[in-house]
Amino acid sequence: MIQEIDPLRLDNQYRPTRPTPDAKVCVFRESAALVSRREDALVLPDWAQLAEGIERSAYLFRVGETDYFLAGLRDGFPLPEGFFYDDVRSHRRLNPRHEVYAEMTAWHLYVWYRDNRFCGRCGAPTRHDERQRMLSCPRCGNMIFPKICPAIIAAVVHEDRILLTRYAGRTYKNYALVAGFTEIGETAEDTVRREVFEETGLRVKNLRYWTTQPWGIESDLLIGYFAELDGSPEITLDRSELSMAGWYARDELEIPADGVSLTNDMIRAFIEGRNP
Ligand SMILES: [Zn+2]
Repeated sequence: MIQEIDPLRLDNQYRPTRPTPDAKVCVFRESAALVSRREDALVLPDWAQLAEGIERSAYLFRVGETDYFLAGLRDGFPLPEGFFYDDVRSHRRLNPRHEVYAEMTAWHLYVWYRDNRFCGRCGAPTRHDERQRMLSCPRCGNMIFPKICPAIIAAVVHEDRILLTRYAGRTYKNYALVAGFTEIGETAEDTVRREVFEETGLRVKNLRYWTTQPWGIESDLLIGYFAELDGSPEITLDRSELSMAGWYARDELEIPADGVSLTNDMIRAFIEGRNP
């Protein structure tokens, strides 16, 4: 999966340092990142390439020995040769994986900084805290920490079949599993039962935790569960959410491992008989 970058590791501790010339820089504009692409390779710019244009920056994290910074460029700064703004969502299958994971995590933090420039309590401009990853309000003292949205992914299994879906009205057309955000006041298990029922009319039992995945593109932490069907396998589709849902046997599915998403990891676990 995207976060599996052995032997490297994403070190998330907030310890702002001075950027070195070879530090990586994440610059975002609307839903695009400043990158260079060579075939399936994703390249983020170095500090040295952008230094003259950087107007403001914030320390993000370290991957291996490399520090990553978030930066904004001054208007009119000429982009280094080969670099352009490219949709972040189109990068998930590029390489190296640690760079895609770093970019996705940087995007998550960028969205949080971008959306909290003003205090939601009193409206004053917020300030970056020096010691921890936090924004604070100098007027009312509000402390704002990074926001992560928990969401579930549920693989429902019935005998030797798995419930697969396709989303309605999205560009993502691959097979999906049931998914949805946890509501305030719910447990993750409640979310699984509610989302499966809302999207397909099915009941589930024997929920078994699989694993989690940070998914910065949507500011999510995805929590994967396998569950067994409880009762009738007849599907009542929620057409506002899904265009299709159905039961699929292992030998009907030709879905290669993509090494990226939790959904793919769970479907592959089912196909290979590794599901709990
Ligand atoms: Zn305030």
